[in-house]
Amino acid sequence: MLAAAVLSGHADEVTVVERDSLPAGPEPRTSLPQARHVHVLWSGGVRAFEELLPGITDRWLAAGARRIPLPSGLVSLTAHGWVRRWPQEMQHMIACTRDLLDWVVRDHVLRLPGVTLLQRHELLGLAGSDGRVTGVRVRAPDGAEPSLDADLVVDTGGRGSRATDWLRSLGFGGIEVDEVDSGLVYASRLYRAPDGGEGFPVVNVQADPREPVPGRTATIVPVENGRWLVTLSGTRGGEPSSDPAEFESFARSVRHPVVGELIARATPLSDRVSLSRSTVNRRRYFERAPAWPDGFIVVGDAVATYNPVYAQGMSVAAQGLVELRNALRRHPPGAPGLARRIQRALAGPVGLAWELATSQDILYPGAVGRPARAGSALMNRYVNRLCDAATGRARVTGAFFAVLTLSEPVTAWLRPDVVLGTLRGPGRRSAEGPPLPEAGRLGPRPERGAGPPDGIRIT
Ligand SMILES: Cc1cc2nc3c(=O)[nH]c(=O)nc-3n(C[C@H](O)[C@H](O)[C@H](O)COP(=O)(O)OP(=O)(O)OC[C@H]3O[C@@H](n4cnc5c(N)ncnc54)[C@H](O)[C@@H]3O)c2cc1C
Repeated sequence: MLAAAVLSGHADEVTVVERDSLPAGPEPRTSLPQARHVHVLWSGGVRAFEELLPGITDRWLAAGARRIPLPSGLVSLTAHGWVRRWPQEMQHMIACTRDLLDWVVRDHVLRLPGVTLLQRHELLGLAGSDGRVTGVRVRAPDGAEPSLDADLVVDTGGRGSRATDWLRSLGFGGIEVDEVDSGLVYASRLYRAPDGGEGFPVVNVQADPREPVPGRTATIVPVENGRWLVTLSGTRGGEPSSDPAEFESFARSVRHPVVGELIARATPLSDRVSLSRSTVNRRRYFERAPAWPDGFIVVGDAVATYNPVYAQGMSVAAQGLVELRNALRRHPPGAPGLARRIQRALAGPVGLAWELATSQDILYPGAVGRPARAGSALMNRYVNRLCDAATGRARVTGAFFAVLTLSEPVTAWLRPDVVLGTLRGPGRRSAEGPPLPEAGRLGPRPERGAGPPDGIRIT
């Protein structure tokens, strides 16, 4: 939809080919199973969305999403300790379900001039000749297989995209692929938030990749309609199960039990726990292809997927589309050489997310993939120290969130003031327990009497 929004300013006709039947509201759909899990949009991504769809944040908020300031709206145990909730806003995130996020975008984009949606149409392959993609072949709901001509085809088919095969069939092979797989499993469940849970912060217990044990996490994200979306995760050997009876105990078994203790106060909204194993980091280096056709680009998960605990995918997709928009401001969609230039430009945002995710994931026991690049041991030591300082030194916390939220390049961590702060360490380290005064406002535990949740120290 975002790609259609970009193209609508530069082409008379934009056709979105979509396999699913798209719901008329913020509802689930078949080909987006990841929507059952936590989907936060970092401020780096929000800014990209705003550039492409001005006013979209207000639309999300009007539909029930929350804008959560960072770090004050976040209670987070990183590998280095609880992050101090500095009152000043350093970055932010949008918190709601993925269904709501998508529906608001869809509702807006489908009204843009020239945009047409072909639902329940499956993309089968590319048509092309003489070094140029000239359109696509699709399968319509009645089984017919028409071709659509196009000056520019943008593959937004997600992690299942067959762009590599399609390119090979046109004579453009040699696409390198890289994978780092920590074997992570995601398990999610929706809860009715307890009384007093409105305005609750995001609560998140992260793993410590330096410990030689599987990494396990637990996260609560307050979403629209007074609900908490709770996602647990575990790398190979420490995976959560789909058994609802084990959900809370897993949440208590991570490095701090706060999430388990909080959800004991909430009411599950279904008997089902959704699982996802689609968590591999996989990058297709289209930008390094020996040759590239005109008229075709690939964006979003079709280029690269990342372990979802880092919440990068949507932001990187949007940032890639800003590159497309910038290029289209200078050249018409079918201009010779344009597609290749765009494909190279969007490797920038992809590369940052890739380095952040894979440099951590490769450390987990049983992780499969190429080891970190030579020379990164020193950088890893520095980043470790920076993450330590980020728990309690505001300047370093700011730089930490600037990169984490994909708002600034990793060079933000090498600014002299940040290096100095990193070397000085976490001056005002946060509390030993979760900095969660909001927990004291929560209503009583359902059917189990009142009182503050066990083990939550109010600070
Ligand atoms: C468990 C999980 C949690 C995640 N959490 C976060 C998060 O917190 N924050 C974040 O930013 N990202 C998160 N992500 C990543 C995020 O989901 C993706 O990065 C994002 O959806 C990529 O968008 P996309 O448009 O490239 O692909 P998708 O959103 O997957 O969309 C692909 C679309 O193409 C359609 N399609 C596919 N093939 C065809 C075909 N042949 N013909 C017609 N239509 C087709 C599909 O129906 C679908 O509509 C998470 C991912 C997972 C798996």
